[in-house]
Amino acid sequence: MQSKANILLIYTGGTIGMMKDFETGALKAFNFSKLLQKIPELKQLDCNIKTISFEKPIDSSNSNPDKWVTIATIIEDNYTHFDGFVVLHGSDTMSYSASALSFMLENLNKPVVFTGSQLPIGDLRTDAKENLITAIQIASLQHRGKPIIQEVCLYFEYKLYRGNRTTKINAEHFNAFASPNFPPLAESGVHLNINPNTVLQKTANKKLVVHKHLNGDVVIIKMFPGITELVLSSIIAIPNLKGIILETYGSGNAPSEEWFIQILKKAIKSGLHIINVTQCSGGSVNMGQYETSTQLKKIGVISGKDITTEAAITKLMYLLGQNVASSVFKTIFETSLRGEMQ
Ligand code: ASP
Repeated sequence: MQSKANILLIYTGGTIGMMKDFETGALKAFNFSKLLQKIPELKQLDCNIKTISFEKPIDSSNSNPDKWVTIATIIEDNYTHFDGFVVLHGSDTMSYSASALSFMLENLNKPVVFTGSQLPIGDLRTDAKENLITAIQIASLQHRGKPIIQEVCLYFEYKLYRGNRTTKINAEHFNAFASPNFPPLAESGVHLNINPNTVLQKTANKKLVVHKHLNGDVVIIKMFPGITELVLSSIIAIPNLKGIILETYGSGNAPSEEWFIQILKKAIKSGLHIINVTQCSGGSVNMGQYETSTQLKKIGVISGKDITTEAAITKLMYLLGQNVASSVFKTIFETSLRGEMQ
């Protein structure tokens, strides 16, 4: 008989565990033990659940690389004792955290499932219970003693996605996330259907390596018609800046004006990494398809292909933190490391 899976539930904060402040009426995080009291159903699950909480649970708008390191360290410290991990997290920055963790946890061969909710667990109409219960079930799934999911993913409103492919698309609907360029790994209906063609298959049983250095000297520039030379050159002149995610139009297009290209060219020459990511929610960057992206390709702008902005900025922080040499930075960025791009 197969033994029960051991699951570690990591509570970081977010709406799922919030309640209204009596004075201000605003939602704020509350104690994790109270959260568990609200879900007696957890006892019925066919797995052993242990819990651990951030000392001070946060609204995920207060998340940052230090918080990602805290989550990664909890997973690292408990890795051999558990079969799967469920991270309860606010939805606002969940896609950033899931993306960051996917890069930080190299050779991961156990499930790390991020989930949360749009309504607090104490709310009558809450979406928290289904999200949490199914996330735990997914983290417990095993085949011949091995976890079926071996990557960082995000479960929300009946769908399991690869974490670094997701983006938050709605602040109102329970269906708050999308994975525009990659199909769901699983869908939950009457049955829990895993899509075996989409999950990452790990062959070699390599040791988990946890990377904790992330470089924050980065910025995201969203292009808009009318962006001025002064604005662009001022951002590029930020002291110590190492990398830029440039959110361009369509398939990676930007103004072809001389001043624009010259600023970027000079920046790249001085060692800055510039990554071209599309503002469109779906589709891919394809530099050279239009005249308005040909120059970008020529001057050495890196293609983000079909990566999300969330995965791009965290991948940039991760690679900079690894001190990847300039000569190979472009090639490595353009390579899929954790299934984050085509
Ligand atoms: N502001 C909350 C957070 O991200 C929203 C949520 O949990 O869904 O922490």
